[in-house]
Amino acid sequence: LVLVLSSRLLQAVCINAVRGNPDSVIAAIDHFCQNQEWAMNVGDEKGAILDSVVMETSPSTVLELGTYCGYSAVRIMRLLPPATRFITLEMNPDYAAVARQVIQHAGLQDKVCLVEGKSADLIPKMADMFGIRTFDFVFFDHWKDCYLPDIRLLEDCGLLDQGSVVLADNVLCPGAPEYLDYVRSSLRFSSRFYRSHLEYTRVLDGLESRTQTGPGSHCGR
Ligand code: SAM
Ligand code: MG
Repeated sequence: LVLVLSSRLLQAVCINAVRGNPDSVIAAIDHFCQNQEWAMNVGDEKGAILDSVVMETSPSTVLELGTYCGYSAVRIMRLLPPATRFITLEMNPDYAAVARQVIQHAGLQDKVCLVEGKSADLIPKMADMFGIRTFDFVFFDHWKDCYLPDIRLLEDCGLLDQGSVVLADNVLCPGAPEYLDYVRSSLRFSSRFYRSHLEYTRVLDGLESRTQTGPGSHCGR
């Protein structure tokens, strides 16, 4: 039996992580990626930055774009109270199946709502599907060419409000230049760059946060 990378990662979690212990699931994934195979989780170094922005924001509604194996979902939700609404979107059904098991192993299945599908199709349905009006925190970590269209879509759907924080991973590697131009040039947001490294490497990378300074609307477009 030949397993694909995401299944090998899941196997490492099942063997090495303590059931019901999110920190142990995170540690098992990081150990696997540092010592066996690279995988595209946000990783430990940028993960610590993600943790600090999540804690600073203290959100009650959270959206993640790009679940992959569930590493960042576990990372974020281990920090937030059970009443937090957390929705994560993943378009690849094989990754979604792995993520469900990783999240279950961490004991967070009741706190995480994983939806299969493409961000462009699902973002406009958030209000109808979940009754969510705005997200306090959004983590962008899906394909980089979706960052700019998806932030505009979130704005157009009225899903971001004053104080909403959007944190985007990999803004240098692989990079999202049009997205960076957009968030850095707008007067409606304040943005901040967190310098770091591509997960499990010494390659320069970073996260960009964008905090909305004015009330949300359909942004006049
Ligand atoms: N956030 C994850 C973590 O740190 O553990 C890593 C996410 S990985 C870098 C990107 C994921 O986004 C892939 O699993 C891919 O299938 C998914 N994806 C890419 N574009 C997407 C889209 N438009 N809608 C939904 N999922 C998408
Ligand atoms: Mg990433």
